[in-house]
Amino acid sequence: MLIKNGKVIIFEENDVKVKESDIEVENNIIKKIAKSIEPDINEKIIDATGKVVMPGLINTHAHIAMSIFRGTFEGCNLYTWLNEKIWPIEAKLTKEDVYNASMLSILEMISTGTTCVNDHYFMSEEIRKALEESKLRAMITRVLMDTDGEEASKKRIEEFVDLYESRDETNELITYSVSPHGLYTCSGKLLKEARELAIKYNLPIHTHFLESIDEIEDIKRMHGEEASKVLKKYFSEIHTILAHGVKLNDEDVEILKTMNCSIAHNPISNFRLGCKIADVTKYLQNGINVALGTDGQGSGNNLDMFETMKIAALAQGGIHENEARIDSKEVIKMATINGAKLLGIDKKVGSIEEGKNADIIIVDISKKLDNIKMIPNNDIISNLVYNTEGRNVDTTIVNGEILMENREIKFIKIEEILKRFS
Ligand SMILES: [Zn+2]
Repeated sequence: MLIKNGKVIIFEENDVKVKESDIEVENNIIKKIAKSIEPDINEKIIDATGKVVMPGLINTHAHIAMSIFRGTFEGCNLYTWLNEKIWPIEAKLTKEDVYNASMLSILEMISTGTTCVNDHYFMSEEIRKALEESKLRAMITRVLMDTDGEEASKKRIEEFVDLYESRDETNELITYSVSPHGLYTCSGKLLKEARELAIKYNLPIHTHFLESIDEIEDIKRMHGEEASKVLKKYFSEIHTILAHGVKLNDEDVEILKTMNCSIAHNPISNFRLGCKIADVTKYLQNGINVALGTDGQGSGNNLDMFETMKIAALAQGGIHENEARIDSKEVIKMATINGAKLLGIDKKVGSIEEGKNADIIIVDISKKLDNIKMIPNNDIISNLVYNTEGRNVDTTIVNGEILMENREIKFIKIEEILKRFS
């Protein structure tokens, strides 16, 4: 495959640059990036003239089956939302619900430029089935918790082991994490079991961490010390993915700096649940890797990572008055290469580089009424963050396979999926 004449987003010497180039993809690998590459006979050519070619977006924290909760339960805090609204309904979900809702989210991701998602849910065989059919890249899991007793917890661990043991080892697109729900919903015993599973299978931990103010005291009460100390006690040397990290104080930042961890920042979900906002400028300044996520649609509204990039950039202006804060170049990296680092796959994806797997999206920035917000296009990177929407994505490629071309989805029957929803 040869992608011709695009404005390619390249990460170079800590900078983000736009370069007019062709990209040649052989099988699933980016083979060559250069000007005026001559096509081979029978090579598929994608004309990207007037379009941006960039690394696929990586959504580092989501619950894709939660598309069914879109537009519900506004104005709750996290605890009320989980305990009184979400969990009672989730207890009644069928496998079919989880499959259909996941498929709807996958359509949303492919059509808005996400090429990889880090999911956190249950009935994950259904989620895996949907992902395999649609050929998206993902990390999946079976969430663990034990607030409802030992038996229920044991069953969840068994389900996780079944999920992992039944994996298709030839499918390199799907990887796994061990996922204690959060420190306020898991006992020390369960955190220890999660640690043992992560070591046994050599998998990362993916957990909610200090998302809301209520957790701070609850975790102290349950575990006898502050959240970061609990985290360090169980997962000190383990690759750990922390969703949210809104409520980190300076001591927490110092502790996290000593760990092998990244933060998945979900600004829209945090705003919607009234959790305030993480000071990700400070985390990044302290050398902690921060990437972006949407959370599930119940709290994050949608899976459009362009919207998340914009809100992530703007929100820092709400806490940093007259101070340096993240800019659009930093935000593009948070949505791509930082996400790949968070998942431990940055040698494979997250940037457009020769030798990496071809997870690429093409964004239409051509001069037309639909793109009026981008004109004049004084700064492509700024426009990508502040004035681009998921629906501007024209083509989505994962591992060298075209999942959407000119907004035509390849492996999913859209009408079949849409008719299952109101
Ligand atoms: Zn979440």
